[in-house]
Amino acid sequence: MTKVRHLLGISGGKDSAALAIYMRNLYPELDIEYYTCDTGKELEETYQLIKNLEVYLGKTIELLQAANQSTQDPFDHYLDLYGGFLPSANSRWCTKKLKLEPFEKFVGNDPVISYVGIRGDEDREGYISKKPNIQSIFPFRKNIWSEDVIGKALTNNNLVKLIEQFDGLSYTPSKVRFRELLLKPISFNFTQTQKTNILLDVDVRLFNELIFSFLKQTSYPLSEENTFPLVDNEDVLIREDIFKLLEESGVGVPAYYNKLDFDLNGKVGQYSRSRSGCYFCFYQQKIEWIWLYEQHPDRFLKAVAYEKDGYTWNDNERLEDLIKPARMQAIKEEYLKRTARIAHKSKSPYLLDILNEAEGEGCASCFI
Ligand code: SF4
Repeated sequence: MTKVRHLLGISGGKDSAALAIYMRNLYPELDIEYYTCDTGKELEETYQLIKNLEVYLGKTIELLQAANQSTQDPFDHYLDLYGGFLPSANSRWCTKKLKLEPFEKFVGNDPVISYVGIRGDEDREGYISKKPNIQSIFPFRKNIWSEDVIGKALTNNNLVKLIEQFDGLSYTPSKVRFRELLLKPISFNFTQTQKTNILLDVDVRLFNELIFSFLKQTSYPLSEENTFPLVDNEDVLIREDIFKLLEESGVGVPAYYNKLDFDLNGKVGQYSRSRSGCYFCFYQQKIEWIWLYEQHPDRFLKAVAYEKDGYTWNDNERLEDLIKPARMQAIKEEYLKRTARIAHKSKSPYLLDILNEAEGEGCASCFI
């Protein structure tokens, strides 16, 4: 039997850090390898978080660096290769070269379970890798399985086989009801998502047992394991739980999430950074660029220095123009109006929610 590796990537964001804490606390029997992909352009707060986590976990977090033979740091090495062409949401060579490729090299051909910190209150899948020897598991969600696994297990073509596997599972009081629902084929009026959710509502453990037993007949990495403790996992962790885990463990919330006051013509606003990743990440909002300018001016100036030969981090606006006093004032005003509007709608007390709602998904490899 091939040894399956269990990996957990630390992005520098709160959710992957909390997941590391959670897995250590609940599943100490799993020999998890922790890693982080260093672009060379992270904020100091990220490195601090990694140090704190290493102490808490009692393990080294493997530092994976692309182009580790280069005299330059990974980002600069590839930027030169790309002729100074800055990455963007439409051309995200940075994620591919600095995150995914080093991760896939680290994995090689070994069967791997990759634990991903997508929360129970998020509606996204969190792409990590499409390599067949890497299987993603989402411990914070009610549905811990990836979409491809669920698709293959629940497809109508697999129904007869799945029922056979189900009948072989031990008895539970919800088994009869579960079976009735399992027999109902997926259709236009009963989608795969609906079927998944309804089965999970009836019995999460039974659902997990069924999927684990389905996996035994496949070439997914988990088919190599005799048992998998997360089959019993019924937890759903949302944003509040993440902050609680970080604070109660003593690891702490990365400092760039802290709300800081700024003044705008006598009015007080609050800003923070909404995510981890490179300090110049093109996913950040205008207000976060201003946060960088005001809180880390040295980093901001470095980001400015990358804008040459017509390449810019933001469409149609150079950073030098973004920090002109009138422009900064306009950005802050617009931000205050927008956050007030969203805060009113979402009723969330977290500035982070507001920034996230305003921003959308971004890059799962960098920000989880
Ligand atoms: S944080 Fe942003 S700039 Fe850095 S690798 Fe990720 S997507 Fe690219």
